[in-house]
Amino acid sequence: MDDFSTRMTNLELERFSVNDYRGLDDAPAFQLRTGKLPVIISAPHAVSQRRAGKVKPSDDFTGPIAIVASELADCHAVMATRFDECDPNWDPFEQCRYKQALAAMVREQSIVAVIDVHGVPSASPYAVEVGSADGLSVSAMPGADEFARDFLAEELAPYLAKHGKTIALNESHAARGANTVTNAISRECGIAALQLELATPFRVPQSIGGHTPEGEAPPFSEAQLPKEISSRRNPDPTCVEVTVRAIAHLATTLADFKTLDKDVR
Ligand SMILES: [Zn+2]
Repeated sequence: MDDFSTRMTNLELERFSVNDYRGLDDAPAFQLRTGKLPVIISAPHAVSQRRAGKVKPSDDFTGPIAIVASELADCHAVMATRFDECDPNWDPFEQCRYKQALAAMVREQSIVAVIDVHGVPSASPYAVEVGSADGLSVSAMPGADEFARDFLAEELAPYLAKHGKTIALNESHAARGANTVTNAISRECGIAALQLELATPFRVPQSIGGHTPEGEAPPFSEAQLPKEISSRRNPDPTCVEVTVRAIAHLATTLADFKTLDKDVR
């Protein structure tokens, strides 16, 4: 196991999957990491959360992805670190301290873009699904969503072929809901926000078992289970590393997006 996936796995085990995916009892509900680049990488589902009265399993490894990608890009990050009674991608802004803290950070640090990272099952036809609420969340940076789709398609090309997946924009996970982090932060703060939904082979570098909190429904259907088990038993750590580096590279590019010549994009 190489250093990159060992580091990601240790972070996941120590801070996110610990305590049955609820995070450490004495951790704050979320943590901020500051950097120099005016972009925030967000992982609101890094631990399990309560959504509409039920426990929703975490998007595993999205916490380590936010930490490592923000270190590589020297940008900011925010990630859920303990089970909270609120789901940042579901509950209204007024009832959600995660989104309020994220908005405060956007204003204090003159942030220009937020990348909100999530996870979907291996059965997804997409390696990464980019969501911009049909362009609404990138009103402040027109074209950033199409750019992100094309950029990821290029950076991940060999792994898209290997895993038989493509990059999508605004398909089944488009962040259209008014309370998604992407939609709410772009609206509240007037900046660009993009949601990235990463499929299991592009997110999980090592099998650590479990994944679903004790007694809870798994975040995939029974029909999707064989493919999910196979991806988790045969992880592709290099694919995950390339994906994390691509997210960091995307953050760096978005920080300069306004100054890029449209023809060069
Ligand atoms: Zn999620």
